[in-house]
Amino acid sequence: MTDGLTVLGSCGAWPEPHRACSGFLVERDGFRVVLDLGYGTLPRLLDALGPQGVDALDGVVVTHHHPDHAVDLHGLFRAWTYPRRSWERLAVWAPPQVRDAVIALEDGDAAAVDAAFDFTPLPAGPTAAGPFVLESVALPHFVPSVGVRLSSPGLVVAYTGDTGPSPALAELGRDADLFVVEATDREQRPTTPPARKPGLQLTSTEAGRAARSAAARRLLLTHFWPGNDRERSRANAQAEYGGEVLLADEGLRIDLP
Ligand SMILES: [Zn+2]
Repeated sequence: MTDGLTVLGSCGAWPEPHRACSGFLVERDGFRVVLDLGYGTLPRLLDALGPQGVDALDGVVVTHHHPDHAVDLHGLFRAWTYPRRSWERLAVWAPPQVRDAVIALEDGDAAAVDAAFDFTPLPAGPTAAGPFVLESVALPHFVPSVGVRLSSPGLVVAYTGDTGPSPALAELGRDADLFVVEATDREQRPTTPPARKPGLQLTSTEAGRAARSAAARRLLLTHFWPGNDRERSRANAQAEYGGEVLLADEGLRIDLP
């Protein structure tokens, strides 16, 4: 399989019909790491991994414990452990609350979860993840949340997870070949009540500004509020950012250099 990124899910908060919430499978030099596992992403991940199933997966990064980014990690726990009697632990990089959430879903059985997953808490200093160096930075959101940057010779992929506007986004996505940026655009739906606190998600305009400030080479917008007009989001981001603006879409495969 060639190097690339596959979109497993593109919705923020809850999934639209035939879609899923946040999830991206990144493949590089035969190493496969999934970024976020929100509602409905697990079957799509299994499809993308092919006949080897979960054995073809080398690691998981989860940006924060909200279920639209993390709940299918519990499904992956079951897919990893239930069908067999022995296994290697799977590397999981995530804020500590993600481990807590999976344990809560498994009736408090921390030993079972830790027997399956080898958690490294984020944010952390630069960490090796297969061919990548994984860097992480805390970003403004309702709960502890990180943006992540995966670097290997000739390739940088960065992903915001959920965030409000922050100067840290410029460094997170600096010169990235692909900068995956949330564009919740909650305000696009006139019936949507305002967020409990402002400044903790991005509009598509702010997503475009983040990509410009980072001088990213390509921008992939994601985390669309259900019902949003995604072409409108693209136009808003494009007004701020001179490079190519892609829209996340379930099953979309993006080749990487
Ligand atoms: Zn979210």
